[in-house]
Amino acid sequence: MSELSGLRALVTGGASGIGRATADLLSARGAAVAVVDLDPSAVDKPLLGYTADVSDDASVRAAVAAAADDLGGIDILINNAGIGAAGTVEDNDDAQWHRVFDVNVLGIVRTTRAALPHLRASAHGSVVNTCSIAATAGLPQRALYSASKGAVLSLTLAMAADHVREGIRVNCVNPGTADTPWVGRLLDRAADPDAERAALNARQPMGRLVTAEEVAAAIVYLASPTAASVTGTALAVDGGMQGL
Ligand code: NAD
Repeated sequence: MSELSGLRALVTGGASGIGRATADLLSARGAAVAVVDLDPSAVDKPLLGYTADVSDDASVRAAVAAAADDLGGIDILINNAGIGAAGTVEDNDDAQWHRVFDVNVLGIVRTTRAALPHLRASAHGSVVNTCSIAATAGLPQRALYSASKGAVLSLTLAMAADHVREGIRVNCVNPGTADTPWVGRLLDRAADPDAERAALNARQPMGRLVTAEEVAAAIVYLASPTAASVTGTALAVDGGMQGL
């Protein structure tokens, strides 16, 4: 029997990058997996796809309800959907601050709120939030993004305290720079994407980016019953960037 067989998982932002690698690994370990994303059309069997925008409460509630119906419950929630922002406090206006917090922070609040009744009914209720080393590393040119991920870290700790006596664990992962379509899009904007990628790799302590699969492995560990006594922690997968 596979390690996660009988468990039901929901992954937001599961159509790409870290979320997709996590959905695939959960499925490979035997879980039944629902992917919730803006456009889950690229997701195919055995994963189930649901369309929702985590910045829209009604769409989140509808997608979580539909996924819980189809899966027969939810044991594992992976709050992974997120967006980036570059710049100092002078570079992003109020609307950008509201938008990034709406997706990166309130997206977790909305999805967790909708999933909690199902997590309470589970014998292995577990939440993993995709945070970032930006939460703690003091990265330049990332004021808004870092503040949003700092809020995700604090939210993780508070949620862990609130729900531990209900048997629900809450943890987060803090990836360093991970090789996903997100980073690919940033590199594509450079004058010479190949040279920019080589320079980015060279800046990493390990000489390469973290892979989406490496982050997924950490997420799946935290989500699984193997980590039954682990709650309220942040696991860095940052290739030695030492953001914590
Ligand atoms: P990605 O762009 O490859 O995937 C993100 C997914 O989230 C996409 O499928 C996208 O459609 C979905 N999404 C975005 N906004 C959404 C919304 N409002 N509602 C529903 N779905 C939405 O990015 P990734 O690199 O895999 O990033 C995933 C998570 O990892 C994010 O939370 C990001 O902040 C975090 N992270 C990434 C890195 C990195 O270097 N790639 C580093 C640290 C943390």
